[in-house]
Amino acid sequence: MSEAPIKTILTGDRPTGPLHLGHYVGSLKNRVQLQHQYRTFILVADMQALTDNADNPVKVRQNVTEVALDYLAVGLDPKVATFCIQSMLPELAELAMYYLNLVTVARLQRNPTVKEEFRRLQRAPADADEAQIRELEAQVPAGFLCYPVSQAADITAFKANLVPVGEDQRPMIEQTVEIVRSFNRTYGEVLVEPESLIPQIARLPGTDGQAKMGKSLGNAIYLSDPADVVAKKVKGMFTDPKHLRVEDPGTVEGNPVFTYLDAFDPDTEKVQGLKDHYRRGGLGDSVVKRRLAEVLEAFLGPIRKRREDYAKDPAEVMRLLKDGTDRARQVTASTLAQVRKAMHLDYW
Ligand code: ATP
Ligand code: MG
Repeated sequence: MSEAPIKTILTGDRPTGPLHLGHYVGSLKNRVQLQHQYRTFILVADMQALTDNADNPVKVRQNVTEVALDYLAVGLDPKVATFCIQSMLPELAELAMYYLNLVTVARLQRNPTVKEEFRRLQRAPADADEAQIRELEAQVPAGFLCYPVSQAADITAFKANLVPVGEDQRPMIEQTVEIVRSFNRTYGEVLVEPESLIPQIARLPGTDGQAKMGKSLGNAIYLSDPADVVAKKVKGMFTDPKHLRVEDPGTVEGNPVFTYLDAFDPDTEKVQGLKDHYRRGGLGDSVVKRRLAEVLEAFLGPIRKRREDYAKDPAEVMRLLKDGTDRARQVTASTLAQVRKAMHLDYW
């Protein structure tokens, strides 16, 4: 009986800061679970980080190690999954260059995630009109506008079938599929169409109640935060602003304290009980927050400990990244050779 071929996962993170609970819920958890079933490549996307951090290469460099430490801490196993550094795989940049010709400027400008990120980058005022926003958008680095194409290069270089990502990345996978179809139609069947794998809690809100916990948004609980910092962040969390007195009935939907409990409390019955009580009234925010602080500490304690152990030997972490990158390069080089051949660029 012939076995189905092993499928490939490619995913990654921008080294713009250490990883947080949103990364765990959105992507890391799936990666840890799937690493044994899929051939898994995990890319530290330093080139992509530079698209909005061009003036801060030292920050990007330092965070490469931080992100790798987070991978190890949550249980990604470098013997099973391949960790690699984007800029050390030059095939990715070359592929992106070819793909740029298959995408229109209008298509890039329509990408909803890039649009949202533009707003954040340029700090567009909430009441800015379309014309003002367009004006601001034009000031963003071209590399940033094009990063979805570079991401398509990353995914297709590994011929990935599955990309475990958070909700905000859905448009990137759609863009990749379009590029794959266009490439295969124009030059012949070389590239593989990927699918995104988006978890049930697809976008973890920030501690401030904003729609997305983000490294660049100042509303994150980091996997590496010390216990007292986590406790303080939980205490200061946004809840239902209409829940003023303990007796008042409160709203659970859109209340990040409950979203986090849904994501991290293994005792779902207990969470349900707290929700019912909160809705009825008579349950104070501080009680719910105390439970959340406990739950998060139970989750983060062992992660923090593993992270501290690995952090004692940064040279070893870099060695793991180099080993992985060397292995990854064999794959990206092979895909690039096929791409060049299909494009009649195989000169000698
Ligand atoms: P930055 O603000 O620099 O873009 P980020 O916090 O958005 O950082 P990324 O490195 O861009 O992090 O994202 C890495 C992965 O984590 C992606 O798959 C993304 O969808 C997922 N992710 C990031 N934040 C969240 C979140 N709040 N909820 C769910 N998934 C998330
Ligand atoms: Mg992001």
